[in-house]
Amino acid sequence: VETAAGASGYLTIDLAALRRNYQKLSATVAPATAAAVVKANAYGLGARQVCGALHAQGCRHFFVAHLLEAIELRPLLPSDTQIVVLNGLQPGAEISCAEAGIVPVLNSLEQFRRWSLTAGKLGRILPAVLQFDTGMSRLGVPPEERTTLAAELAACGNVEVLFIMSHLACADEADNGQNDDQLAEMRLIAAEFAGLDLCFANSGGIFLGGDYHGVLARPGIALYGGAPTAGRPNPMEPVVRLDVAVIQTRTVPAGTRVGYGGAHVTSSAARLATIAAGYADGLPRSLTDRGAVFYDGVRLPIVGRVSMDSMTVDATALPEGTLSLGSLVEVLGPHQTLEDVAEAAGTISYEILTSLGRRYERRYR
Ligand code: PLP
Repeated sequence: VETAAGASGYLTIDLAALRRNYQKLSATVAPATAAAVVKANAYGLGARQVCGALHAQGCRHFFVAHLLEAIELRPLLPSDTQIVVLNGLQPGAEISCAEAGIVPVLNSLEQFRRWSLTAGKLGRILPAVLQFDTGMSRLGVPPEERTTLAAELAACGNVEVLFIMSHLACADEADNGQNDDQLAEMRLIAAEFAGLDLCFANSGGIFLGGDYHGVLARPGIALYGGAPTAGRPNPMEPVVRLDVAVIQTRTVPAGTRVGYGGAHVTSSAARLATIAAGYADGLPRSLTDRGAVFYDGVRLPIVGRVSMDSMTVDATALPEGTLSLGSLVEVLGPHQTLEDVAEAAGTISYEILTSLGRRYERRYR
């Protein structure tokens, strides 16, 4: 049995599984191709390592949220790749975006005009992606700006649109009617911007079928092993495993208060183990008295409030002496998926993954 050897825990990231997930998604969208959404440090897993592995697997388009993320990533990726900034072109960021060779998503007519002006100033043709709002009301060119944008784009010789895109609000709910509505709207836009390639599906969208694929899909969570569709078996391979160290054990009688506020009181004698991860390590306080960890497949419920750097679990189900200082318990792994933890915490897998933090020792396989 492996022990912690000084680490608070090990976050193991299986890059081979990540590559197989990419392959699977690529095969599902073929003849379209798959990009990778690597914002927020590749959903917390390490953008450098993730992008390297995906590039080796043939991925050439990488989406981030912010320009700063793109600028950090640019020197790490070969020049045959495109790095696209989803959140749009901020005023004042035009020159650094152009000079770093980053592709902005233009989310409005105003952003398009500013990018074209920048191209004029630099005397260059600048690449861009146009995003349209098809019903999510978050980012993208609103319907009332479309006709003017189409006319100005046709007349403008200095912005090269690589593809057009939109984002699905309910793609993880296969039966949600908003998916069809957004697809219908996207078809109108594709007709208006005839000749431009379409980038549409996120992870869930890929499994909605070929109508949603366009020429480039844009998965995030499915690459990292998260379930693309709610309530259906997860077709992806797990990529992340989290094991956390036991830092103290104790045996207590019935009636013992555990943790802040004394909010948990043992109902019978119990063997408790305190482990070295808390809400500052991405395990939300809402797991208090709801979540669990596993040891050898045995479920050990979290008892008492989750603290910043630790939490206590009830290990009474294990034979006495099984856990000791340095033992590792499974938080994410074969017995507990991202979705299990997310459900217990009352959140989504994305939030768990992107919150895991920096204090675990990371191991890339
Ligand atoms: N496209 C856009 C615009 C996004 O904001 C995201 C992530 O939220 C994705 C694609 C990837 O989504 P998912 O992780 O659900 O595949």
